[in-house]
Amino acid sequence: MKASVSDQNNLIDLQRIDTAISSANHRLKNLPEHELIAAVKKRSEESKSALEVAEAELADVSIDLRRSEVEVETVTDRIKKDEARLSAGTASPKELEQIQHEIATLQKRQSELEDGELEIMLKVDAAKEKVATMQSDLAGLEKMELELNIRYENAKTEIEKEIALKNSERTLVLPKISQELVELYEKVRSQNGGVGAALLLGNMCDGCRIEMNAIELERVRALDSEEVVRCEECRRILVRI
Ligand SMILES: [Zn+2]
Repeated sequence: MKASVSDQNNLIDLQRIDTAISSANHRLKNLPEHELIAAVKKRSEESKSALEVAEAELADVSIDLRRSEVEVETVTDRIKKDEARLSAGTASPKELEQIQHEIATLQKRQSELEDGELEIMLKVDAAKEKVATMQSDLAGLEKMELELNIRYENAKTEIEKEIALKNSERTLVLPKISQELVELYEKVRSQNGGVGAALLLGNMCDGCRIEMNAIELERVRALDSEEVVRCEECRRILVRI
């Protein structure tokens, strides 16, 4: 196949543009924020589940506390009633003795219940603290996710702009190359990791970085400048400079 020197040089420009587009697409797919966002999301989910458990625990101990408060109130009320009967002075001596005995029993019960109430209050405080810490952790994670999303969107926009620019450059250079050469380039490129054309630098193919032997180099040099040369090693289009 033959192609003008200018077509061949434009083909190298096309290759540079395509390489830049591939590299930008690769960066787009591998933005570090992508993985970080996924990791933060996972931690947020875990944190949410743990918070739900802690909130349920707090609700349970709060019910226990209310129950305990009611029990203490009931006993305290009964003591007050008994004391009122005592001070009324209407009871018989036998009744008075019974009431005093009941008050003593109730006071013992009251003291036990108050100890229990105190223990539950401590549990409620600990559960509240746990919930507050978890809520603050979760808020921190959500803030981090938001910031990462902004960073990701900014980086994505930048790269997309770069790709759009390169695509417009591609549109400009494409008509400057013969269709036949472009077709060959596209075919070779699809089989060679996105690189279809490379420069011959000295005696080395810039595509596969393999040096040509002296005989091959001499043969290539002797060819007409419009002859389309292919690398013997990687089969890429070799453009001589
Ligand atoms: Zn090569």
